[in-house]
Amino acid sequence: MPLLKQYQSRILENALMTTVGFFLLYVGKNLLLPVLKMVEKEVSPSTLMTTIILLLVILVMGLAYTISLLKKYKTKLLYLFGVYWNNKLQIYCPVCKNPTMYEKSSKDCDVYCVKCQKEIRLRNEENHSNIPIHEAKKIVKEKLSKN
Ligand SMILES: [Zn+2]
Repeated sequence: MPLLKQYQSRILENALMTTVGFFLLYVGKNLLLPVLKMVEKEVSPSTLMTTIILLLVILVMGLAYTISLLKKYKTKLLYLFGVYWNNKLQIYCPVCKNPTMYEKSSKDCDVYCVKCQKEIRLRNEENHSNIPIHEAKKIVKEKLSKN
């Protein structure tokens, strides 16, 4: 992913988080507090505490579950020809694991990492020869379809 796009997605993520944060604060102040005050009059403090603790436990469990799901579906990278590949055949830098940029021609063996500012040559590990990107892609695609 080009650097500019990475920054754009970061800014979008931050804007989204801020909006959600303000929304939660607004809901907390204008809806939850009055409800809590009403409940306080009707329900004994110990019941209220138990309910709040139960809700917190459920919240924490939900968060843990969400994090475990996110980890599970995070793209797994395959190491082949001296670089990493995702399941969409995007090439990742072997050093920093950021997406690389390419490709000048169909015979080209090089990709470029913006972060490391380095060209990376795709190499066949078996005979140590260079391998063009489009050939490497075919082989990676076959390997991925077998998994
Ligand atoms: Zn890199």
